[in-house]
Formats: sequence, structure tokens, C-alpha cells
Amino acid sequence: MDRSRIPNPTNSDLKVWAKYAWAYPVLESDAGQNLCAECHKTLGCGRTHGIYFYDTGHCDNCGKVNELVNCKIAHRIEDLGISDRLYYETRLPRIRK
Ligand SMILES: [Zn+2]
Ligand SMILES: [Zn+2]
Repeated sequence: MDRSRIPNPTNSDLKVWAKYAWAYPVLESDAGQNLCAECHKTLGCGRTHGIYFYDTGHCDNCGKVNELVNCKIAHRIEDLGISDRLYYETRLPRIRK
């Protein structure tokens, strides 16, 4: 992807930003696992994800209610060079529901 095409949105642009094409692969891609921080240590991808990628739910591995991260979603955004904080502000899904 050509990063020069990714604009630098202001807060008022974020609703529009959420509709940008880069978001669709995130929404349509295979689920991947939602993992709590503890399970991410052993079953996760080995990267450390920003705190804003985490959302509350039942961990797919241990079943506990916790703050979870979905590596597939996080990777998609990280690889685009978009910060976890900005992704959070778009209100797009951070974990699979
Ligand atoms: Zn877990
Ligand atoms: Zn991960």
C-alpha cells in the first residue's frame, strides 16, 4: 500500500476516515483469535501491541473476561503505519465480537 495516500485526519475527519478503503480488509479478514495479555505471551505473535488495540471480552484461549487483543487486526493497522490510538478513535472493531 502506498502510505503517501493515507491522509492525516483531524478529529472531525475521523468519521470519513473510518470509511476509507484500508479499513475494509480489517473488517472482512478472517477472524483470528482474541487473546488476553497473558495468553498473548504464549500464543500470540511475539510483537507488543499498543494498549489502544485492546478491548474487553472473553479470551478465546482461557475464557476469562479480560482486555483482549486480536493480532490479525493489530498487524493490519501496524503494517499500515497507523497508530493504535488513531485506530481506536475510528471506532472500528479492535477484537472480533
Ligand atoms: Zn487468555
Ligand atoms: Zn500479537
